[in-house]
Amino acid sequence: MAVQKMDKVIDYSFKTIQIENSKCVAIVRVENYNPENVKNGLERIIKLLKPSFFDDDLTEKLILIKPNVLAPDKMAFTNEVVVEQLAVILKMKGVGNIFIGDSTMTKEITRMAHVKSGLADIALRFGHEMINFLEDKFVTISHNKFEVSNVVRIPETIYNADIIINLPKMKTHAGYVFTGAIKNFFGLVEDKISMHRIYKNKAVFQKMLGDIHHAVLCCGEKIHTKPVLHIMDAIEAMEGKGPRSGKHKKYNCLIGSFSPVALDALAYSIMGGNPEDLEAIKSLSKRNSWEVNINNLDIIGDNWEDFKDEAQLPSLETLNTTRTGGSLIERVAVPIIRIFHPVIKIKSEKCKLCMNCVSHCPMQALYLDEKKKKIRVDRSKCINCFCCGEICSNNAVHQKRPISKALPLIF
Ligand code: SF4
Ligand code: SF4
Repeated sequence: MAVQKMDKVIDYSFKTIQIENSKCVAIVRVENYNPENVKNGLERIIKLLKPSFFDDDLTEKLILIKPNVLAPDKMAFTNEVVVEQLAVILKMKGVGNIFIGDSTMTKEITRMAHVKSGLADIALRFGHEMINFLEDKFVTISHNKFEVSNVVRIPETIYNADIIINLPKMKTHAGYVFTGAIKNFFGLVEDKISMHRIYKNKAVFQKMLGDIHHAVLCCGEKIHTKPVLHIMDAIEAMEGKGPRSGKHKKYNCLIGSFSPVALDALAYSIMGGNPEDLEAIKSLSKRNSWEVNINNLDIIGDNWEDFKDEAQLPSLETLNTTRTGGSLIERVAVPIIRIFHPVIKIKSEKCKLCMNCVSHCPMQALYLDEKKKKIRVDRSKCINCFCCGEICSNNAVHQKRPISKALPLIF
């Protein structure tokens, strides 16, 4: 397996992206995490989608499974049984090398999440390699179809993988409303804090996620598009204050597609949202002409409407990045807009003053009030990315809309 030098940019502008059946999404009922049920569900998804890479001899292939391993909380990560049973199916198909990889904010938190999620144990027991992407080397990719990035850096294991199977969890996100197949690739990023700082405009951040998908699809030595299959764990999902501190909600299904746009569009619609509201879905759909309208998708398997159940979705207002700028208009308008804008609150009674959120806030908007022994938020700096909420293991970070309670009294 050839390894590229890290110090050069590899330009893949010569490659056009072509994925298998971008209009097709498969949905199958799986009631619980019983291993046999999950295995049957995964096999049904594969049978329905018929990935062409399963026709090849897979003995020499490297397949990278990318779950969501954000935090050790059960509902915050792709259930270990889904990962385990997918690996069992791949082994039965003769796959020679199975790697499981993800990363969160820091190397240490990622290591802990790998252990507490049970994935490190599965990797050990079944002889798969567990990759902490933050300990991997990185390859720098460029492509003239990147929308907001000059280059995208991806882990070397992703670069070298022959096939990638993305296993997102169906969840809400207090900073970005929804997180699914598209957002799950943010786990490939080397320096997540800096990315939040650089792409603090949320529409641009969401387009940047599309650049990551583009980089993954075009990278590697082969001339064709890298095969990527997405299968979402929507058996038990999260609503409300996701991606870590939300409420448990059952959807009893697995959803699969070659198109992260089609998958997220269907999943978000099942939760009661409109996919056109989310720039991540919309922009990636436009860039590649991948279908986003669920009326035009080929939805196969079980009847998707049977799974529809409105979730408690974060307000779309959270997608507006409103920070006080220098101009007179901004100084007057932004505080007014903020009255309707969700704000970050630290619940002192839950906070252990571990300072993790303070050291990982991309905007240095959090600080310790030494006198009161409380974490404070400087609202003029906060971009509402919710990194603090993702990193807090004590469920002490919340989002509130200051005026939401008063609105019914005003109107
Ligand atoms: S990460 Fe959570 S517990 Fe730690 S200081 Fe921040 S709010 Fe408090
Ligand atoms: S306070 Fe929290 S939401 Fe605001 S910028 Fe910092 S990490 Fe992001």
